[in-house]
Amino acid sequence: MAQPVEISIAAASRKVTVPTGLFINNEFVPSVDSNELIQCINPATEEVICSVVAGSVADIDRAVAAARAAYNTTWGKNVGPLERARLLHRLADLMERDRDTLAELESLNNGKPVRVARDFDIGDSIGCLRYYAGWADKITGQTIEVDNKTKLAFTRHDPIGVCGQIIPWNYPINMWAWKVAPALACGCTIVMKPSEITPLTALKLSELIVEAGFPPGVVNTVPSLGSVGGAALAAHPDVDKVAFTGSTVTGRKIMEAAAKSNLKKASPERALLAILEQVSLELGGKSPHIVFASADLEQAANWAALGILYNTGQDCTAGSRLFVQDTVYDKFISILVSKAKEIVVGNGFDEKTSGGPVVSKMQYDKVWSYIESGKQEGAKVILGGQKRAGKGFFVDPTIFTDVRPDMKIVRDEIFGPVLAVAKFSTEEEAVKLANDTSYGLGAGLHSKDADQCMRVSSALEAGTVWVNQYNLLYNNVPFGGKKQSGIGRELGSYALEEYTSVKAVHWNFGEKLD
Ligand code: NAD
Repeated sequence: MAQPVEISIAAASRKVTVPTGLFINNEFVPSVDSNELIQCINPATEEVICSVVAGSVADIDRAVAAARAAYNTTWGKNVGPLERARLLHRLADLMERDRDTLAELESLNNGKPVRVARDFDIGDSIGCLRYYAGWADKITGQTIEVDNKTKLAFTRHDPIGVCGQIIPWNYPINMWAWKVAPALACGCTIVMKPSEITPLTALKLSELIVEAGFPPGVVNTVPSLGSVGGAALAAHPDVDKVAFTGSTVTGRKIMEAAAKSNLKKASPERALLAILEQVSLELGGKSPHIVFASADLEQAANWAALGILYNTGQDCTAGSRLFVQDTVYDKFISILVSKAKEIVVGNGFDEKTSGGPVVSKMQYDKVWSYIESGKQEGAKVILGGQKRAGKGFFVDPTIFTDVRPDMKIVRDEIFGPVLAVAKFSTEEEAVKLANDTSYGLGAGLHSKDADQCMRVSSALEAGTVWVNQYNLLYNNVPFGGKKQSGIGRELGSYALEEYTSVKAVHWNFGEKLD
């Protein structure tokens, strides 16, 4: 099986053709040695949308060979920056054209509201392609004076080579764009492994790769189980770089696999250093969100609700631990609950929906097991916390108060619309509570005291700190984690460093050795 299937999106009165094969060398093909399929489920209805080919280890080999051949012939150092930029802009144009179809497919497979997918996920992804198209001809090295009379050195920022890119299911198109755009701008070729839960938009985008005019093998897409295709990609000796977004548990496995593959002959010290260049990891989080007494409480409540409920809490920077200063605690909580009640949970195709289902049965069971653990450990449910009847993996916004730092709902990443709220009295205590986590991805604070904003934002251990806002990202601002939330940075000019390797060229134009 590798034939495209026609999906009827009844709610949008539209039929969409989706490719179901593996995308290698600009063609959709069956597996070389496997009949395994991946079933794609609509999380709002629990119905099967369609099945796609599940790539095997041999399929990853084939895709890596295609990416290597393209790197050595039509891409890599064989294509100029203006052409790379032109193709990225062309891809962005095609995404603009197909925005509605892509949004509907994203909603069908992931559950998020179509409106949100269209305006934010796809809008930002188009912006990401254009942003890196702009960078393609600005990736420059330095000329370095070493000896004016006889020598000169300069640096070149070479493409790093063939990249294995492994992405999660919470923002399938966004994560695709964050990985693909800088890699292509730098001249790398790609084997993309989308999440087995949400492969449909990555396959649909692969059609646009052909239409945009990218040469065969530059971008390859292999849907596959993580333990099969993901593991094979991370361990592949001919993959020069692995870029991964997903859980911290999987991130560790990727690091180990990469260390044992192309670096296996290196000494342990060398392997450690080299791997930091070779692997970038965007991992989980348990981000703190602090509300100080001086804050605009209405605004802070808006951001706090958005921080935990956007994307049904399936957000790596979800502000899942909220700390509120004791003097405004009761007032703030009542505003927050009223804001959270405004979220309309339902099918993403209903225009009124602002919160979709969680993505899968597995995620649904995981979120509910945390809600149950919060109840058992003695936290107080002040909103939600009750299952709904009927089909669909829906979880209503759930707020716990009276939490202790040792509770599972405070320590673990839940990845659902579940908020743990605690009180604090001093700034010092707030910072201590906020930093009491193994993660370091996002953090937020609300205060009208500018000195306090500066002090606290500097003390928070996180890759991103939001002041008097939360969760907003821009393509030109770097994003990534500290502690167990990851290594490396995506977005902004910083992402270019992840896809280039600096070469120093020493030039002698005069010195003769005796
Ligand atoms: P996951 O780690 O289960 O899977 C992510 C990807 O890794 C999938 O494509 C999966 O197939 C693959 N994978 C699984 N096992 C693998 C293995 N052994 N080797 C190689 N690849 C493997 O994560 P998920 O459940 O898809 O996504 C949720 C997680 O992603 C959360 O922890 C969330 O915080 C994190 N996330 C982080 C960011 C960020 O930028 N920091 C963004 C989005 C999501």
